[in-house]
Amino acid sequence: MSCDNPTSETDNQRRRLVAYLLAGGAALPLAACAQTSTERTEATDVSLHNPLLWAVAWKQTAAEFGALCYQAYNLATLRLDGALSRRKHGDKPLAIITDMDNTIIQAVNYWGYLINEGGEFFDDAIWDQWIPKNLVQAVPGSKTFLDHCQANGVEVFYVSNRDQGDRTYEYALAQLRLLNFPYVDEAHVTVNRASSNKMAIKEKVSVSHDLVLMLGDNLNDYKRDYYVADVDERYALMERDRDDYGDRFILLPNPTDGHWVRAIFGESEPAPTDANRRLLLDAATRSAWDGQ
Ligand SMILES: [Mg+2]
Repeated sequence: MSCDNPTSETDNQRRRLVAYLLAGGAALPLAACAQTSTERTEATDVSLHNPLLWAVAWKQTAAEFGALCYQAYNLATLRLDGALSRRKHGDKPLAIITDMDNTIIQAVNYWGYLINEGGEFFDDAIWDQWIPKNLVQAVPGSKTFLDHCQANGVEVFYVSNRDQGDRTYEYALAQLRLLNFPYVDEAHVTVNRASSNKMAIKEKVSVSHDLVLMLGDNLNDYKRDYYVADVDERYALMERDRDDYGDRFILLPNPTDGHWVRAIFGESEPAPTDANRRLLLDAATRSAWDGQ
């Protein structure tokens, strides 16, 4: 994504606000490249009806989004500190496992670009072009939390499902290093190219460590049995595990993608067809007042 839009006073004000907040240790989603609706050409007016707009606008602007991320990481810190205080001599070392995308890494400018290009659904080809650009940001609270883990000797294991060809792993490491996260090395970073199943790393870490927390934006980051293509079944599985959320499972908000999408469409990356737009409409109106 390029930042070559004409600079407006609004953008200057935004940049000053961001600089002020960053100086105080706070963070905001990308605003510097924001383009106002009046700056858009008529050719992009089709985007006014893009079904992604609400979800992406929320990620791009809502302080509530940032607050939910901080809430998740504040809770993670509380749980971690509790586990540290209960440690006894001879116990296995502590560890956490974290997902990457939408858990510790933000891709909001990917979504902004996708919308500007007329995309209405996740586009894997554009994603694969975007990844090597290293335009990622840290999710609010993630860097502070992961540094807190390191400061207390709690190892961090990263796991992601990505496939950008032979350089997939190299790209993932580069993003983690760009954000200056701790424990970024081959012993701690796993990238699955062929499967979205993350349970092998969970089992492996559990042998050598006391696995305190798992961080994710997708229930499939915690257990494979959430990988079902049925909304009701998936919801029931979540209810079964309700006590784990905010305890050993820490969840970050993500309204644009994940296996909740698969539960609606039958696939995680549905094509932008009218049949799929109908499925989205059906999902959104699953419960609807009849007007009476
Ligand atoms: Mg994720």
